[in-house]
Amino acid sequence: MSKPRHAKIFVDFPYFLYNKGMKIKFLGTGSAIATSKRDNTSILFEYNAKKVLVDCPGSIVSKLRYLKVDFRELDALIITHFHPDHVYGLPSLIHSLKPFGRYPDIFVPEKLYGKTLKLLEIFNLSKTAEVIPVTIKDPPVTVKDKIEKFNTTFFKPRHTPASLGIKIFSREKAKERSLIYTSDTGPMDKSATLFKDINCLIHDCYAPASFKSEISELDKTHSSALKVGEIAAAAGVKKLFPVHFSGETKFSINLIIKEIRKNYSGQIIIPEDLKSYTV
Ligand SMILES: [Zn+2]
Ligand SMILES: [Zn+2]
Repeated sequence: MSKPRHAKIFVDFPYFLYNKGMKIKFLGTGSAIATSKRDNTSILFEYNAKKVLVDCPGSIVSKLRYLKVDFRELDALIITHFHPDHVYGLPSLIHSLKPFGRYPDIFVPEKLYGKTLKLLEIFNLSKTAEVIPVTIKDPPVTVKDKIEKFNTTFFKPRHTPASLGIKIFSREKAKERSLIYTSDTGPMDKSATLFKDINCLIHDCYAPASFKSEISELDKTHSSALKVGEIAAAAGVKKLFPVHFSGETKFSINLIIKEIRKNYSGQIIIPEDLKSYTV
């Protein structure tokens, strides 16, 4: 086996910038247990015709086609962690791309490099896309520390030992802008520093805090709406997309908004499956 190309703390996706006009397309907005309206969370980021998919559950090809996105044009795929709802569609996506011979680079937390290869090997797909292990820096890099030529960095959310969250910077000189997708996470101690003054936060928001007695993971490996509101308010986040809503139990989205609003007065956007948002 040849030595993998290794992505250090920063990755330069020249096309993966948080500048005006970036499109965020939600392929799913639900948790591991999907509902009729919300499938497992995965997100496509598009900027200047370049496409980065984050996580790969289920029928990615069908969803991209629904959104009129050519599935053969994915530039990168980032796997945030190895829970089935974030990764089980990977062999199917790569298999679908095989006839065309064009694959996205697959970025995974370094601890998951071997597992990702194994998953592809099961289906004889290991000689297809390049899998690139990513080093995660903790404490995470802030805007102040960022190195000019890079634009994407990864951090450790509070979830599995090998999970990553993504921070994308802009290169707009006049005003520093950045976007964070936490992936699955409980409330993080470092959130005040990590999220400080960011423009756009896509945060795990599993269920309302009032469901705490029913959902044991709440505020441990996933976040309640109440906590998300506190966190976004403390950091001065401008735009908040709560995501990864639990399908384990029934609650109304209005309750999510109500809890977030107890502390946060910025813009809340509740994303829907198969909808596109320009930021
Ligand atoms: Zn999940
Ligand atoms: Zn998870």
